[in-house]
Amino acid sequence: MSERATALELRALTKRFAGHVAVREVDLSVAPGELIVLLGPSGCGKTTTLRMIAGFLPASSGDILLNGNSVVGMPAYRRDIGIVFQSYALFPHLNVARNIRFGLEMRRMPSAQANARVMEMLRLVKLEHFADRLPRQLSGGQQQRVALARALAIHPRLLLLDEPLSNLDAALRQEMAREIRILQRDRGITAIVVTHDQSEAMAMADRLVVMRDGGVEQIGSQEDLYERPATPFVAGFIGHSNLLRGQLRNGTELLTEGNGRIALCGHYAGSGAACLAVRPESVRLAHPDAPDARATGTIVLATYLGAVLEYVVRMESGIDVIVRRPSQGDAAQGRMAGEPVGLIWDPAAERVYDDHDRPAPAAPQPQAVTAGG
Ligand code: ATP
Repeated sequence: MSERATALELRALTKRFAGHVAVREVDLSVAPGELIVLLGPSGCGKTTTLRMIAGFLPASSGDILLNGNSVVGMPAYRRDIGIVFQSYALFPHLNVARNIRFGLEMRRMPSAQANARVMEMLRLVKLEHFADRLPRQLSGGQQQRVALARALAIHPRLLLLDEPLSNLDAALRQEMAREIRILQRDRGITAIVVTHDQSEAMAMADRLVVMRDGGVEQIGSQEDLYERPATPFVAGFIGHSNLLRGQLRNGTELLTEGNGRIALCGHYAGSGAACLAVRPESVRLAHPDAPDARATGTIVLATYLGAVLEYVVRMESGIDVIVRRPSQGDAAQGRMAGEPVGLIWDPAAERVYDDHDRPAPAAPQPQAVTAGG
């Protein structure tokens, strides 16, 4: 029996609230030292999943294993998990040092050792000079850093972070994201981070779990999700995509609402409802008569966004396609609203999904007739 070591395993984990399914049959296997980000829109079940792992909320069904052992039914304080939750606030009557020290005292760590650990944690979150302050004398971001120090002080086997950077300003957010990442790597801590911020998720994760309506939409690395999104939802959520829905005709055309027609690069099997996903940065603008134009339209908005120029191109069907081109050295530079254009993209940039939102298979190649036999 050679099972890969897992620090955390979720098996068909499910939570129902009065008939409403908040988390649906989530399966996940996390390797020791791995940082997993749960990502998805508001209400998709991220926090509920984390609260079940922490032991704050009982699962309706399914299992949670820590280092191979089921912890369902085990109280939160015995799970040896470091927690940074918004709902798990700092103790308001304890100063910063005592907040950090709290978990160590619970574990009966000798006083000198606990003092040293508290100092180490204060240095780590750059709050050495704030040891004597009460939480209400700190900014929201400083409080979050104390919460992080408190969670890390116990040297947890598993760290759960729910929107850990939400109170920080943009610059500090990036710095803290990097620091959490470095710390977590150096110490080999297994961590699950919940966020709805896509760039934060991409910056921190070893792997990401994209959730939607309580279920898992896709699990993978940043590259997996960006390059090979399993569904139109992931294509639209990780980075951005133009999602164009219609009917697949002859495997080579997408007919959209408003009598729109898009010539696809690929040749797909099947027919019926389909969705084309193509990223704004993958679309190029050309002359409307260009032979390789997949569709045509008119620029209705051209916006300079610094590194990129963004165009909204309205097709005759009335459907808009967003196009983003580098603002430096791009032939498309200087195009203006009102200009008719053709839209071009490469075969590799085109994703077509079937009526179940799964990647549409390529049409079978005609069999080559082999001579003899
Ligand atoms: P957000 O990003 O807004 O925090 P989330 O992905 O973390 O969202 P959850 O907080 O896990 O989402 O909520 C998932 C669903 O479960 C939501 O529809 C929410 O309204 C519902 N829900 C959460 N907690 C409870 C509860 N205690 N009772 C009833 N419904 C709940």
